[in-house]
Amino acid sequence: MALINENFLKLKAGYLFPEIARRVKAFVDGNPEAAKRLIRCGIGDVTEALPEAVRYAMHEAIDEMGDRKTFKGYGPEQGYDFLRNAIADHDFKAKGVNVDADEIFISDGSKCDTGNILDIFGRGNKIAITDPVYPVYVDTNVMIGNTGDADENGAYAGLTYLKCGPENGFVPAIPSERVDLVYLCYPNNPTGAVATRAQLEAWVQYALKNDTIILYDAAYEAFIRDPEIPHSIFEIPGARDCAIEFRSFSKNGGFTGMRCAFVVIPKGLMGKTADGTKQAIHPLWSRRHSTKFNGASYIIQKGAEALYTDEGKSQVKALIEHYMGNAALLVQACKDAGLAVYGGVNAPYVWVGCPAGVTSWQMFDKMLNEANVVITPGSGFGSAGEGYFRISAFNSRANVEEVCTRIKALK
Ligand SMILES: *Cc1c(COP(=O)(O)O)cnc(C)c1O
Repeated sequence: MALINENFLKLKAGYLFPEIARRVKAFVDGNPEAAKRLIRCGIGDVTEALPEAVRYAMHEAIDEMGDRKTFKGYGPEQGYDFLRNAIADHDFKAKGVNVDADEIFISDGSKCDTGNILDIFGRGNKIAITDPVYPVYVDTNVMIGNTGDADENGAYAGLTYLKCGPENGFVPAIPSERVDLVYLCYPNNPTGAVATRAQLEAWVQYALKNDTIILYDAAYEAFIRDPEIPHSIFEIPGARDCAIEFRSFSKNGGFTGMRCAFVVIPKGLMGKTADGTKQAIHPLWSRRHSTKFNGASYIIQKGAEALYTDEGKSQVKALIEHYMGNAALLVQACKDAGLAVYGGVNAPYVWVGCPAGVTSWQMFDKMLNEANVVITPGSGFGSAGEGYFRISAFNSRANVEEVCTRIKALK
């Protein structure tokens, strides 16, 4: 019989979203009338239609595919130059940030990229994550064997957890010990927090001093409204020597069902072999990507390129304004209900403190049963998320207005 990867047995059996689905199903089965007014603000998935510029570009791309003179088969694994150049020019160079097109690797999603990146790192690295955290960073480290077992709180042996709370604005303090890899995600899912330039500078200084690589997830950069907040880790001097950045079209362009994202790896970024020899990271990822991936769809990449046209940009801006308008309403409703509210200003997530003595899951049940609204319990993102819940601003305006009314009516 074939041996299995036993690391998978260490995973806490899909604790968060399956448990939400189970409780929602039980509610719907038991309350068919109330179930009709159920509003879902749980999963972080976009709800509004794909921008028109994207749809036009994809129609054209499909027509090209329908003519053997312009038909495309396999494309470059790293992505088409038209998209890599558009990203380098618009997301980086136009903002004075030094990133070259050949440092950009197009993929079919940041979830895959943040997990797959572990392929090119060795075992035995000291790895830090924030708490609360996007669960993908944790579970992919468990799967590949970078951790021991989980304790009763769900914390894995061998991982360094960096506590985030209101006392540090949900941006972790610089650790006193060194780590090899640290995952940072700003604007943050789930807390909606952003990292200031000074905070990111401190992290880059720490990384340079300790030979740490920062894995920077900027999936929500388009939601930043405060002009002082950096959109990319590469806005920080020195970051090209210590950081990898993950970006996605999922949340800005509404591409969650389309699948297109990218990784930025500066050519000078170094790791080392066990004998201490320095080795560039960029060629390793290039080799990995072209061996295990055959490129994102031409049609989808054409759609992504259209996000960088004038029409595309204004349509993305309208989408962001819609979601951030929702976030502002949710923030105000929670404040009016007397709850402690964080996030929702530069991110599409509102992170809310439960009333005193109420746990995250108790609040989930209360919102489900009394308001018929599905939220996400903060404890599902790590033990430091206990006592909080997350409301997603990805919804129609009408649904958000109704959710606000119901939050204010909570007993
Ligand atoms: C939604 C999200 C992503 C994007 O994932 P895709 O696979 O590109 O859809 C990345 N990181 C975080 C934290 C997210 O919430």
